Amino acid sequence: MPDTTTVIVGGGHSGLAMSHCLAARSVDHVVLERGEVANSWRTQRWDSLRLLTPNWMTRLPGYAYRGADPDGYLSARQVTAMLEDYAGATAAPVLTGTTVTSVRADGRGYIVRTDQGTWRAPTVVLACGAAALPTVPALAGLVPDEITSVTPAGYRNPGELPGGGVLVVGASASGVQLADELHRSGRPVTLAVGEHVRMPRTYRGRDILWWLDACGVLNQRYDEVDDLVRARNVPSMQLVGSPGRTVDLNALTSAGVRLVGRLAGIAGGVAQFSGSLPNVCALADLKLGRLLNTIDARAGTAGERFAPTVVRSAPLSLDLRSGQIAAIVWATGYRPDLSWLDVPVLDHKGRVVHDGGVTACPGLYLIGMPFLRRRKSSLIDGAADDAAELTRHLAGHLDALAGRRERNAS
Ligand SMILES: Cc1cc2nc3c(=O)[nH]c(=O)nc-3n(C[C@H](O)[C@H](O)[C@H](O)COP(=O)(O)OP(=O)(O)OC[C@H]3O[C@@H](n4cnc5c(N)ncnc54)[C@H](O)[C@@H]3O)c2cc1C
Repeated sequence: MPDTTTVIVGGGHSGLAMSHCLAARSVDHVVLERGEVANSWRTQRWDSLRLLTPNWMTRLPGYAYRGADPDGYLSARQVTAMLEDYAGATAAPVLTGTTVTSVRADGRGYIVRTDQGTWRAPTVVLACGAAALPTVPALAGLVPDEITSVTPAGYRNPGELPGGGVLVVGASASGVQLADELHRSGRPVTLAVGEHVRMPRTYRGRDILWWLDACGVLNQRYDEVDDLVRARNVPSMQLVGSPGRTVDLNALTSAGVRLVGRLAGIAGGVAQFSGSLPNVCALADLKLGRLLNTIDARAGTAGERFAPTVVRSAPLSLDLRSGQIAAIVWATGYRPDLSWLDVPVLDHKGRVVHDGGVTACPGLYLIGMPFLRRRKSSLIDGAADDAAELTRHLAGHLDALAGRRERNAS
């Protein structure tokens, strides 16, 4: 059984950032990746996807974007190439094609079983992705058989869907981008809208993410927020990686997308939508206004304000057997897949309980989750600070283990 000091599970940007920080402290480690480096960008992203974060935010420990287009947005293929280059440049010890099938504690640390053999290590870092699986509500099972159901992880382009109307469920980043793309492909699109985060692409002449970065919003720490559970579940921002283009609900309705409320149920083939659409839109407008006030306070003068979201009377039901809808896109979020983790750190919903990525099982760490240590934790730009802090903690744990061994030996 090979031994190492740290096993990192996952060769996405989080695992590679962690590897870079461990190497800088000379901590012997291995990165186990079931596919290739950047597997999720190769296998789980639609064809037209571009990052919604501008290129200058594509920063990792020891890496900064130096291309000719700092204000552009990388395509999924470019992200893959960037991560491949990063893994090569940092000489990350990645073992590809190696699926971790279980991690369990033993007296001396952890036994990590894979389909290529078993590793033993005193420390393990779970970097296996916050968005490993699409979250699809149970009511998807009530959709009539003739309707095609897809998730953003499986969807590639409009040509893959049958002709006819599309119901997109969920109006966060994936939902608004796919509603926009499907509408542009000539399909009638209905968008079911629940709680969402309205965001203009640009404000006061700059990308909104420049302002969020400059105002410290993205750097806000997990131990500074009042309601961390809520903060970790805030939907993604309604943004698309296209210079100057906003895909908020007003943009979509002016283009011809029909809005309905949150999908609340399906009975007898009829979809039922919540009547809360005006309220959730008013709330999103209010929160956007507060954010713009914060930005204005930093800028020192009042800036423009955007028109409130226009909500026309929205139907409360839609007969899915009427032929109006040929496909449903479940843009209802993502979740990690830790079904193979055999260590008692999961809550009743199967989520790892942790304090800023440090679990209650000594030597077991987590990285890459929403608001792990900062608001930006799930973004590429969030990995550097989180990996540095977790590496410090991990190194301290190793020192403590070494001290204990020395005391026992003497
Ligand atoms: C649609 C979408 C758009 C996004 N857009 C942006 C953006 O614009 N800007 C931004 O900064 N962030 C964006 N993100 C968020 C984030 O950057 C990505 O989710 C990113 O892929 C997370 O990197 P990661 O390394 O934490 O996880 P992943 O990239 O998911 O990497 C985890 C790795 O672990 C591997 N793995 C999982 N289980 C096992 C196992 N049992 N054994 C071995 N290997 C395993 C996987 O194959 C995978 O390669 C986006 C996310 C999504 C879903």
